[in-house]
Order: sequence, then C-alpha cells, then structure tokens
Amino acid sequence: MDFAKLAPASAEALELRRDLHIHPELSGKEERTANLVAAWLEKLGIKVMRAPAPGRSLIGVLDTGRAGKRLALRADMDALPLRENACNLKREKGFLSANEGVAHMCGHDFHTVGLLETAGRLAAMKDSLSGTVIFCFESGEEMGLGDDVRALLAEQGGADAVFSIHVQADYPVGSVVILDGSCTAGCETFHIDVKGKSSHGATPHLGLDPLNCAAQILVTANSIISRRVNSREAAVITPCQIHGGSTWNRIPDDCFMEGSTRFFDKQIGRDLHAMLDQTVAGVAAACGCEAKASWRNLTLPVVNAPELTQLARESARAVGIDLIAGQPWMASETYARFSEICPTFMAFTGCANAETGCGAPQHSDRFEADERVLAVNAALTVEFVKRFLA
Ligand SMILES: [Zn+2]
Repeated sequence: MDFAKLAPASAEALELRRDLHIHPELSGKEERTANLVAAWLEKLGIKVMRAPAPGRSLIGVLDTGRAGKRLALRADMDALPLRENACNLKREKGFLSANEGVAHMCGHDFHTVGLLETAGRLAAMKDSLSGTVIFCFESGEEMGLGDDVRALLAEQGGADAVFSIHVQADYPVGSVVILDGSCTAGCETFHIDVKGKSSHGATPHLGLDPLNCAAQILVTANSIISRRVNSREAAVITPCQIHGGSTWNRIPDDCFMEGSTRFFDKQIGRDLHAMLDQTVAGVAAACGCEAKASWRNLTLPVVNAPELTQLARESARAVGIDLIAGQPWMASETYARFSEICPTFMAFTGCANAETGCGAPQHSDRFEADERVLAVNAALTVEFVKRFLA
C-alpha cells in the first residue's frame, strides 16, 4: 500500500505502544496496562467499566447519543512467558522488554494501542456517528481467560456485532487478509494418564510397561489424522509433553502425556476428541495397561460472519490497504467465545518487513512487528465502524 496516503498513528499512541512493549504483563496480570488503557479512554470522555478484581479486563462505551446499531471492538492485552531475543531476523531491535522472561511476542501491544488510537479518532468524529461503539480490552487471552470482558459486554446490553484484528507476521505490512468462514483453529487440550505396573528393566514381563503403552498411543494417534479424517480438512493432534520414570533400570508404574487438537470445523473437533478417547482405551487394553484422556480448554474456531466479511473488504479497499490472499491460522483464539453473544469478524493485518527483519513467527523470541501496522489497524477499524453504524 501507499503509506504516504495513510494517516500515521499519533505520537502518543506510538509512545504508548513502545511503553507497553517495554513493560509487558502476563495473562491475567495486566494491571499496569489496564490502568493506562482506562486513563486513555477516560481522557477521551469514554465511560469505562472494569471487571471485578482480580479480573483485569475493561470496556469503554462511546455513546453518540443518537439511536443506532451497537458495535463492539476487541483487543487483547497480555504478553507471553518468553525471553525476548535482542535481534529480529536481520538486526538488533530498537528496544526490548524490560520485564525479564515476559515479552509481547504475539503483538497484543499493537492490538491494545491500535484500539486506543481508534478510540481517539472515533471520539473526535462522534458528532457524525450514530449508535454505540464498545471498546473491549480483554485480559488473559493467551491463557484462555478473558470471559470477564464478555461478561462486561453482556452487562452493557451486548452488541450487534464484534470486530477484531490480529497482526500477522506471515504477511507484509500494509496488507490485510480477510477470510470467509473459519479464520483461526479450534483447540482442545488433552491429558492422558497411563497406568501400568512397575518392574525391573531386566524383567519387563513381570510388570506392565506404561512407557511402551504411551509410545504406542502417541504413534497410533498420529494415524487418526492420516487415516480417519478427510484429507481435505485441516486438523492436527499434537502431544507436546510426555513424562514418566525416574531412573534407567526401573519401569515406572505410570506416566502421562499432554497435547492439543486443532481443527477448523466444530464437528471435526468433536470427532478428534472421540477418536483419541477410543485410541487411548484400545491401545491401553492391547498393552494390558489402563489409560484415560481428560480434556479441558475447548476453544472453537473464530468464524467470520459473511456480512461483516464483506463490509471489512469494502473498508480495506476504501482506505487503500492491500487485500491479499492468505490462509486460516492454525492458532486458536478466545475471541471465538464472542460468537456466543453476537456475530464475529477478525482480520489479519500484515506486520512483516523483509528489509528491516520483521517477520519472525509470532510466539518466537525474534518476533518484531513493523510499527506502521498501528496506523493500518486504526484506519481499517475506523472505516469499518463508520460503515457499520451508517
Ligand atoms: Zn495473539
């Protein structure tokens, strides 16, 4: 896109974004961030409602005083438990997290401040708008928290739709990917306990080896995707930790593994759950062991409502952002839970820049976003709001 034609983000917004990046806070602990957000909104004359302690989520309500539709805009505020690398893909970063072991490596600092920049622009044009805009700042997205922001929104009467943006290191800055249907994956976490019977390593026949059983569960689980899920569907089952045993010559009594499933279709998510349960029970029986999967943190895919998708494309074209092709993101988002309240939409705005070394994957320590994405996010959101409330 031609950045010369795009209104840059305000100096205050750029400064706050850097400040949040230098002072990142973990999921559910965004106290400083939430205080800065609340102060910013209040300064704009926007009414702020905060979640009861220990919740950190908050919402701001911009009521134009004229009857009309209600649109919610959502940003998340939390950082990741990662040590930031001083370099991006090409060079040293200009500034770094000062909070050791915590870093904004998913770009939520851009979401928070992009929405504050948007709030400033909308407050300035309030007299030309009708209806209500509700700014939703969600705490604890990375840990599956954040239901308190949805409770606040529901208390305020809900909304007709909710709009959100996630920055994306896969795409160049100045571009946006707007997908039909599912744009992020659903996810469910599994924990598998395997019980066997301890024995000496020299006499495995006197025990029941839970490690061998777990290994076979892991391998058989891989064939669920390759043999039992339609190859046109994207889905994964990924065990990411396995623990058992304490020494080299003793088979332990038990072990466990944990991982997650990812899927873009709710029914496939249910099928993966049932097929893994079946695999765990069947393989354990074949090994003479006992095993059981327990499940938690079900998150559904974010599904873009068709009418909002269309409006977002028109908005992107109107402000000169490059609409490019892209793919659904295999990551999962608590944002999907807003669909219990109203239709949802999420855009992916590119934040990569090969020249400056921005483009390392999100959740990696070299991640850095091109700061101009702040202006892209604000322009797209403001244009969407104008069109939605018109
Ligand atoms: Zn994220």
